[in-house]
Amino acid sequence: MSLSNINIIGYKCCGCEACYAVCPRDAIYSLRGARGELVYKAGDLCINCGKCLSVCAAKSAKTYEATDVFFRGITKQKDVLKKSSSGGIAFEMARKILTYGDIIYAAVWDVDKQMVRHSRITSLRELPSMQGSKYVHSTIEKETYVSILEDAKTHKVLFIGCPCQVSAVKNIVGDNDNLICIDLVCHGVPSAEMLEEQLRILTKKPIKMLSFRHGLDFTLDIEDSSGKVYSVKGYDNPYYSLFLSFSSLRESCYSCSYANRKRVGDLTIGDYTEDGTGYSCVIPNSDIGKQLIKETVSIIDYKKRNACLLLENDALNHPTYRNAKMKDFTDRYNKYGLYFAYYRTFYIFVIKRVCRRILGDKLYDKFLKRIKKK
Ligand SMILES: Cc1cc2nc3c(=O)[nH]c(=O)nc-3n(C[C@H](O)[C@H](O)[C@H](O)COP(=O)(O)OP(=O)(O)OC[C@H]3O[C@@H](n4cnc5c(N)ncnc54)[C@H](O)[C@@H]3O)c2cc1C
Repeated sequence: MSLSNINIIGYKCCGCEACYAVCPRDAIYSLRGARGELVYKAGDLCINCGKCLSVCAAKSAKTYEATDVFFRGITKQKDVLKKSSSGGIAFEMARKILTYGDIIYAAVWDVDKQMVRHSRITSLRELPSMQGSKYVHSTIEKETYVSILEDAKTHKVLFIGCPCQVSAVKNIVGDNDNLICIDLVCHGVPSAEMLEEQLRILTKKPIKMLSFRHGLDFTLDIEDSSGKVYSVKGYDNPYYSLFLSFSSLRESCYSCSYANRKRVGDLTIGDYTEDGTGYSCVIPNSDIGKQLIKETVSIIDYKKRNACLLLENDALNHPTYRNAKMKDFTDRYNKYGLYFAYYRTFYIFVIKRVCRRILGDKLYDKFLKRIKKK
């Protein structure tokens, strides 16, 4: 008998958990993948009904055609911009939807569960928790899918997430005009396991606040329950440096079928830089997306741009390439853990970073030029 369950997806599983949410037999279980990510499989209880495959984000995607234009966008609120990752677009869109009394689902650092997960947001007070990119896989629990389905019966629901997650939500909810989706440009996510290990090394106390970035400043900021603050530049922290060098992502991210210009969300947002200033690129993929832009012109400054400029954004054009040292890192990570694997595999890079810190950027660049001339 041919397989009609998610076991045909194999390593392409993106961890959306949609299969787990719809399985009528509780036959879905998770395995640990190459770098600690959870990969979902169908077990002995499976009756081959095919429900898991029908919602699987790695299997089926309904995408919009690529657009000719996009918008350079930036919020007009300075305090919003300060806490956002690029132009503060996700925050402003969510705020607009909340003012209509509708509901948001977005990724937050959950202080009680000590993990990044998609959470239901219904008030302006809760909204700041979704602000900023969390560079890790965000979990969408079964209860969250159920709650989205229920909410979409009576309210508009705005879901913001990575394209695979948007696809999963759309597959589960089906045709419903109440569902509005924003997908992020995404080059991939490391596992929650890896972030957990990094946080445990920094502090034994629960984490109150976790932030990866403010605009073009890629700094990891953490505050633990005792009020102690850790702040470290991205390339000087093992977890963050691995993320930025494409060495630690989920296996499925390296063959992501969403890393192109045909998008799944009504609107796509990602990074966009012009003359050294950070903005968001805002891509309207559907009429709903265009409407969202119209409704936010008073709070977001938009400028139209030709889509050929999006060729510069790798994650909109092809899946992320593997770092040449990724295999070595992965083998060591599984045997010895995060820090040993990172420092042993990338020691030359680490030495260069230390020299840069000691000498300062100017002197270090001058020194490098001299060496290269010789
Ligand atoms: C893992 C990851 C990789 C990315 N890679 C790229 C890239 O290669 N190129 C690029 O142009 N842009 C990338 N982005 C998008 C970029 O970092 C910004 O999120 C985007 O530009 C929106 O900025 P903003 O200021 O409008 O968002 P904000 O207003 O700051 O809001 C951020 C939004 O992102 C959501 N979010 C945060 N973390 C996650 C997560 N882990 N999973 C799902 N949703 C999340 C939040 O819920 C919120 O809605 C990536 C984002 C993530 C999360």
